[in-house]
Amino acid sequence: MRLRNKPWAREKIDAHPQYIIPESSNVKGHWHDIFGNNNPIHIEVGTGKGQFVTGMAKQNPDINYIGIELYESVIVSALDLLMEAEVPNLKLLNVDGSDLLNYFEKGEVKQVYLNFSDPWPKTRHTKRRLTYKSFLNLYEELMPEGGEVHFKTDNQGLFEYSLKSFSEYGMMLKYVSLDLHNSEFEGNVMTEYEEKFSAKGQRIYRSEAKFQP
Ligand code: SAM
Repeated sequence: MRLRNKPWAREKIDAHPQYIIPESSNVKGHWHDIFGNNNPIHIEVGTGKGQFVTGMAKQNPDINYIGIELYESVIVSALDLLMEAEVPNLKLLNVDGSDLLNYFEKGEVKQVYLNFSDPWPKTRHTKRRLTYKSFLNLYEELMPEGGEVHFKTDNQGLFEYSLKSFSEYGMMLKYVSLDLHNSEFEGNVMTEYEEKFSAKGQRIYRSEAKFQP
């Protein structure tokens, strides 16, 4: 993703701790207190400008969502969406997905979403892919037994790699679509990348993989 430098982003993030939960606050094991209920918690790693999590939070008020995004200059756009939408069941976290264990207790997260993750096509960058085995291990650590990873992409190479990675990790593939927008899947919430790529006629791939005991 091309990043536009926004020198004011840090200040804006710091001014809205009720929406973008400060990295320094003691969140691990306290997310249900932060949301003020015991509803299940779903996270999106690499949430970008937040269109998906905001749409999901509106569609499912009984699920709590956390959008996790590495870059300040990107998460501020998600902040704008969240403030406009006024959804109490959505929070944002401006951290690196590889540090998730610093922010979540085992079993605190019910489901993980990955949408249009950076493909990192070069073999030497395989470990950076959010569906690489070390990331799968992280997600498994956050969720109770039988947790799921729901994944969408327009990138055929990343999709093929990810299906293989899920399967080699021993996950069960519950759902695979090679053309989501021409499938019978209901309730799809489009991400900003999904809108952009599908408008250009690109196919969208989707999978649901479940961790096995
Ligand atoms: N999910 C959005 C969508 O579908 O429109 C954004 C997709 S964009 C290609 C990938 C996003 O993942 C970028 O905003 C990037 O900064 C973020 N990202 C990549 N690696 C990450 C990591 N390790 N932790 C958190 N966010 C990450």
